[in-house]
Amino acid sequence: MQVYLDNSATTRLDERVFEKMKPYLTEKYGNASSIHFMGEENSLTLLKAKEQIGRILNCDHSNLIFTSGATESNNMVLKGVMRSNKDPEPSSGGGNHILVSAIEHPSILETAKQLKEEGFDVEYIPVDSSGVVDLTQIKKMVRPETLLISVMAVNNEIGTIQPVETIGAFARKKGILFHTDAVQAVPYKTIDIRGWNADFLSLSAHKFNGPKGVGLAYINRRVKIRPFMAGGGQEYGLRSGTHNLPGIVGMAEALRLAYEEQDEIVKKVSELSAYFWKRIQEEIEDVQLNGDLKNRNPNNLNIMFRRIEGEAILMDLSTKGICVSTGSACSSNKLQASNILKAIGLKDNDLNSNIRFTLGKFNTKEEIDYTVGALKETVARLRSFTPLK
Ligand code: PMP
Repeated sequence: MQVYLDNSATTRLDERVFEKMKPYLTEKYGNASSIHFMGEENSLTLLKAKEQIGRILNCDHSNLIFTSGATESNNMVLKGVMRSNKDPEPSSGGGNHILVSAIEHPSILETAKQLKEEGFDVEYIPVDSSGVVDLTQIKKMVRPETLLISVMAVNNEIGTIQPVETIGAFARKKGILFHTDAVQAVPYKTIDIRGWNADFLSLSAHKFNGPKGVGLAYINRRVKIRPFMAGGGQEYGLRSGTHNLPGIVGMAEALRLAYEEQDEIVKKVSELSAYFWKRIQEEIEDVQLNGDLKNRNPNNLNIMFRRIEGEAILMDLSTKGICVSTGSACSSNKLQASNILKAIGLKDNDLNSNIRFTLGKFNTKEEIDYTVGALKETVARLRSFTPLK
């Protein structure tokens, strides 16, 4: 049996999305920037995709920029905003201070590190022991020269849902720009760009059963952003390069399906993960759920198995056909403790004993039953010969 429980790393392409994409790979392959009829048709398709996405995310579609994914969107926003508005005079609307939460994805944290090396003033907003960013901390940290606050909508490792609505409202009141990485939100949390007062937002299609290598950045175009890629001037000059039309069409369809079927997916995934966690608690000793017990994405179970290495569990489950992660996929091949688990205060002894199970709409109860059986055997065996203190 093959069981895929790593849906926060990526998801399976929905067949219905693939069907929508196919014509743009084979028959309708014209460049959307070309003037001839094939280009014109595709340019219209592009516009329709933007209009559809704009309606779903509640934003002005002319502020949507197609990218290769959230890594690019996050880099584009943080670097673009900070580098283009670094005037130290706060009265001019500029500033060199940026706040990012301590539990962001590496595409934000590493970008912030680069900005610090360039001389920007970067500070990290701490989280409480359940992994939630506290607005009172942000209120203490903002200064007249604070230009941008970046807080993710849902954490990718422990699934905690962040209060982006209140952070956005506060930022707007203070005249500070607000960015949110909403990659893990779809379809579990409804995205509302206007309601969240977000100036910038990032998404990746492959996290919600869309294709890989395509994403978007919502950009408040009243803010000055110098593009970091020069070229043909696509996407209002903000993101040059031939449009990935099959990917864009796929992303629009995947987003439509995700929210049209939101209730059904949330119900199914919540029931499956509750069942999974109940059985683990009943049948395996010395386990703990990391992060907030209630305020979390229903697809996420980040679990500590005391006294054993998460890495060893992952490898053993993999031999049994089960795919899980020890943290975010991007850091799972580095034997380095998760900065997120550190940020929520896990003890040193416990930092490497965790497994992230992330469910998706295609998982079944049979798969969960098989995984519980395999996990019990794996944990018992590892605990019998590699007891950690
Ligand atoms: N942000 C978050 C929260 C993520 O989980 C990921 C993917 N792991 C990304 C950004 C980056 O997405 P991509 O790899 O598609 O660029």
